[in-house]
Amino acid sequence: MKCLHLLVVVLILVVPVMAQKSGAFPSGRIVNLTYAFDANSVYWPTAEQFKLETDFEGMTDKGYFYSAYRYSAAEHGGTHLDSPVHFAKGHYSVDQLPLDQLMGTAILIDVTKQCAANPDYLVSVGDIENWEKQNGRIGAGTIVLLRTGFGKYYPDRKKYLGTDERGAEAVAKLHFPGLDPAAARWLTQNRSIKAIGLDTASIDHGQSTLFETHRILFEKNIPAFENVANLDQLPVKGFSVIALPMKIKGGSGGPLRIVALL
Ligand SMILES: [Zn+2]
Repeated sequence: MKCLHLLVVVLILVVPVMAQKSGAFPSGRIVNLTYAFDANSVYWPTAEQFKLETDFEGMTDKGYFYSAYRYSAAEHGGTHLDSPVHFAKGHYSVDQLPLDQLMGTAILIDVTKQCAANPDYLVSVGDIENWEKQNGRIGAGTIVLLRTGFGKYYPDRKKYLGTDERGAEAVAKLHFPGLDPAAARWLTQNRSIKAIGLDTASIDHGQSTLFETHRILFEKNIPAFENVANLDQLPVKGFSVIALPMKIKGGSGGPLRIVALL
């Protein structure tokens, strides 16, 4: 009888703990979507590259190991977030973005084929409509990811950006896909998305001079994730994204740690 009592007590105490464990967050597979930052990280041709310098590394005179470094970089390079104020005066800076806008249900629109045939490809309204024909309407509050296939070139600047030159003259030589301004406008007018990201250096394609897609999205406070990694590891739907940028007060963007939960 004592044994039975003990068993009941054990079950009462242990079962709820087990239930909690099986419902642990996150329950699925985690996919890293961020490139490591180093001297090879891809930055805009006019931007300061990422730099890591050593303050101290080694054994201290007290007999323990210690390391500390100091980094510097432009806001917009490597895997990063563009905040609306980057192109829309008075709109959210990176520290002001509501957290709920940076996490949630996500989808992937795969335009790899189109971009393989044309490095200046603009992801179109038709591409979005095709996705919806096959997968259903993009729900309110969705985070949209565009897979151009250019991620496989990162960080080879010549292949990824179209040029490995640096400086102001290099900007005109940029060739990589982006989101068509007409598609950006369609999304802001017909769907209610939280954020959008892609596997190139800019949400506007490389040959853009007026950055209209940035301006259309940011006017509506929709941030962009750029240089997103590992999009080849995601399904077209049925996953979530968490995208947390460095909280730079007043910043127009910043380094982004983004993951997908499958
Ligand atoms: Zn940017």
